[in-house]
Amino acid sequence: MNTLTLEKKTVDIHMESLSDRVGNTPLLPLHRVTLNLPASVSVYAKAEWFNPGGSIKDRAALNIIRSAIASGELRPGKRLLDSTSGNTGIAYATFGAAMDIPVTLALPENASEERISILRALGVELILTDALEGPEGSMNAVREMLEKSPERYFYANQYGNPANWMAHYQSTGPEIFAQTAGQITHFVAGLGTSGTMMGTGRYLKDQNPQIKLIAGQPTKSMHGLEGLKHMLSAEHPAIYDKNLPDRYLEIETEAAHEMVRRLAREEGLFVGLSSGAAAVAALRVAEKLESGVVVTVFPDAGYKYLSNKELWK
Ligand code: PMP
Repeated sequence: MNTLTLEKKTVDIHMESLSDRVGNTPLLPLHRVTLNLPASVSVYAKAEWFNPGGSIKDRAALNIIRSAIASGELRPGKRLLDSTSGNTGIAYATFGAAMDIPVTLALPENASEERISILRALGVELILTDALEGPEGSMNAVREMLEKSPERYFYANQYGNPANWMAHYQSTGPEIFAQTAGQITHFVAGLGTSGTMMGTGRYLKDQNPQIKLIAGQPTKSMHGLEGLKHMLSAEHPAIYDKNLPDRYLEIETEAAHEMVRRLAREEGLFVGLSSGAAAVAALRVAEKLESGVVVTVFPDAGYKYLSNKELWK
């Protein structure tokens, strides 16, 4: 609490930093897309766009930054470096700006207009790599920069850094368990770095091994569902354990798009593409149940996908 004196009045001001606002997101029930389900089956989504950087990746990025500061790997004079065009980059940039940590990100030059503009707005140094080389090209650029000047950078490495999944073990998992009063029966999430599933899934299994974990996967490698990886064809992240989920479900891109429109128009939830995919997977799980509490995660809102004209028909 800080105290401010205004003329003759003394006002108490509760000071909170941006990082205090990460996590503790609402768990929203889905009402209308679930109308075909029996009353004994409910479906909830964790509304992760309530985080200050606008996505679930605030949890991982903040924990990566905090752990690296604690270990001394990230100290004054170092720049945070990673390859990401997505939400993790925006999260690094948000906390980097707030905590005075300079950030350098490598990303393919064809990353969406919205993402590049947001990263520029937050003052990130951007290394744009050849679109034809995809995310691999950005990772290679990062490797070269690290080889050339290792002392200049802290390599955040979201795909291999245990602080990514640990963030979810320490926050997303406990929040979901508490918000459902321990009644959750199924947890459904898409896989990108896999941090959300690995951390939340491990926490939930530790509380109750009967809770089923279901991972949503795009059906093909060129799926356009930003944030998600097609694990069958992609290089596996070091933090990913393919044996943790009890089941995998394949989600077609068109089904995810259709669900994004339904969530906006029927539930008032304007969410991103991976949230549409998560909802499709959660509803497919729920449809097979006689009773249960299915929880999924909606990683971000729809604003960064507005330039995808095909989606908003
Ligand atoms: N959806 C979106 C929009 C994301 O940015 C991410 C992170 N890449 C995910 C889903 C997947 O989350 P995770 O990396 O924790 O698997």
